[in-house]
Amino acid sequence: MQAESLPVELRYWPTKRYMDIYKKSLDDIEEFWEQEARNLEWFRTWDKVLDWDPPFAKWFPGGMLNASYLCVDSHLRSWRRNKVAIYWEGENGEQRTQSYSQLYREVNQFASALQKLGVRDGDRVAIYLPMIPELAVAMLATARIGAIHTVIFSGFSSMALADRVNDTKARVLITADGGFRRGKIIPLKEVADKAVRETPSIEKVVVVRRTGQEITMREGRDLWYHEITKATTKDVPPRPIESTHPLYILYTSGTTGKPKGIVHSTGGYLTFINRIYKWVFDLQEDSVYWCTADVGWVTGHSSIVYAPLMHGASIVIYEGAPDYPKPDRWWELIEKYKVTIFYTSPTAIRMFMRYGEKWTKEHDLSSLTILGSVGESINPEAWRWYFKHIGGERCPIVDTWWQTETGGVMISPAPGIGLVPLKPGSATFPLPGIDADVVDDKGNPVPPGVRGYIVIKKPWPGMFMTLYKDAKRYKEAYWSKFPNIYYAGDYCMKDKDGYFWLLGRADEVLKIAGHRMGTMELESAMVSHSAVAEAAVLGKSHEIKGETIVVFAVLRQGYNQSSKLKDELKKHMRKTIGPVATPEEIYFVSKLPKTRSGKIMRRVLKALVSDQPVGDTTTLADKDSIGEAKRAYEELKQVMAE
Ligand code: ATP
Ligand code: MG
Repeated sequence: MQAESLPVELRYWPTKRYMDIYKKSLDDIEEFWEQEARNLEWFRTWDKVLDWDPPFAKWFPGGMLNASYLCVDSHLRSWRRNKVAIYWEGENGEQRTQSYSQLYREVNQFASALQKLGVRDGDRVAIYLPMIPELAVAMLATARIGAIHTVIFSGFSSMALADRVNDTKARVLITADGGFRRGKIIPLKEVADKAVRETPSIEKVVVVRRTGQEITMREGRDLWYHEITKATTKDVPPRPIESTHPLYILYTSGTTGKPKGIVHSTGGYLTFINRIYKWVFDLQEDSVYWCTADVGWVTGHSSIVYAPLMHGASIVIYEGAPDYPKPDRWWELIEKYKVTIFYTSPTAIRMFMRYGEKWTKEHDLSSLTILGSVGESINPEAWRWYFKHIGGERCPIVDTWWQTETGGVMISPAPGIGLVPLKPGSATFPLPGIDADVVDDKGNPVPPGVRGYIVIKKPWPGMFMTLYKDAKRYKEAYWSKFPNIYYAGDYCMKDKDGYFWLLGRADEVLKIAGHRMGTMELESAMVSHSAVAEAAVLGKSHEIKGETIVVFAVLRQGYNQSSKLKDELKKHMRKTIGPVATPEEIYFVSKLPKTRSGKIMRRVLKALVSDQPVGDTTTLADKDSIGEAKRAYEELKQVMAE
């Protein structure tokens, strides 16, 4: 790796170290991870580094530690006790700043309250809260006493909430009276009440007062958070937790079907994310870290709560919508809190590209040092915009590939241990200790430039332990395609320099006239046209060709839909990818159906254009989006029939 090939602005980053560390890490992964685990404070050392009974791994069995202790107590011994742990900003402009010692007090009070409610080691606690500090407090308090949390995104419906609670059989539900979103109040307690009618396991509902609106409290079952924490002032010693005791259960976003209950361990998971957040985000004592994901997703678990707090960083939590009240809300917050590390998703970046640069220019973003991207591949167009308009051509972008299952980042640039030259759209290389490769259907490595499946050939500490109460699905979905090798379900390609390019989900491939094309590649080509802000590409079955390409596109501001534009877009696809990539149908819509975590639900659109039932939509963010897509589709069908 030559430093010279880096853009001028990035040359001050060291580059060589990464390769040496990576190579050495794979010689003996157990020795490697054992060294890394020593960076954490354990109450008792492990008996063994790894107990690998494929496909089940136990990392550091016998070791004892506590997540809440590592994230909070460990900072009280130094000056960090007075350091800001959480900068919180409500959508309505309210603010709260919490130091590590204040966080300690709150976590202890709530841990004590939970104990009084009878919550014990191993019990499940369901958390259904908006993005307020109590969300982090509830997670840490649950972990402190050895209970297992399951956070359910606060945008979910009562049915989605009830399903998840019933799967985990949680005894306590923690919610709020409401939350703010786009200036409106989301009636969380009302939704929770409806859900709890269907969840016999819930004994108590704890309610945080956030909006102050009128709600009904059921005598004997519902308790105010501020009341049950007031009565408790005493410290709750962090319970020593065995390394393989689950820290949490979290459901995946449901892009590909029914959400899966991912179970994460305590010791392996914390060791893993402790190290990778140092490598990927180069966390420093003065870092102000802002990850815009919701805590309801794994990104929020690892990147908002556990990793940055373990490192004693100051984190930013923002409650509301990114473009509310104006499209510069995020940039205003970066300026206000002097954010140094900013982590968001390609879908958000594309949304801001749509609004244009005028909103970023008004703010001083010079505190930023590293930018991150997660959730899907970032198309080069969006990468360059992010690099230029947010990072001021100064900050490396870490494109981080990972999954709920992996617990933390697996493939990404790692400025903390040596930045490699970046290529827009590539997640670059696997992190140390991650034996990733790209293979064909038989499990053989594919040559450079050929698409295959991304696999992980050796266990890693952050890996999930199983699917909750469904070891069979765990084995089948992830470990049966290639024996004892982790199958992630994503397409990938390595280029001649060995860079990894993630190419979307393997189950979303289109088969057109004998060619197999990934949706990601086609969508990236589509949005490289200046008129297109966002696109979803899917296949529609066709008697002769196998499948034809159907596109749903959202236009950038200032562009209007027309049949001339449709033709131009078809031409553009032909030119960028080839004649086989010519879309058969293009629909213009104002929004795409997405999961609550911001991912396009292509299967919903596919069902629509194939006149099939749309299936499970509990994780869909905005029901209108389907209606709109449906109208666009019906209209065209009508025109064709006439
Ligand atoms: P489900 O498994 O229920 O369909 P999901 O896969 O969307 O849900 P997550 O675990 O949150 O749930 O997302 C992981 C997936 O997101 C990856 O498998 C990959 O497809 C995509 N992804 C995440 N980060 C990146 C990235 N940097 N580049 C490319 N793809 C990414
Ligand atoms: Mg997945």
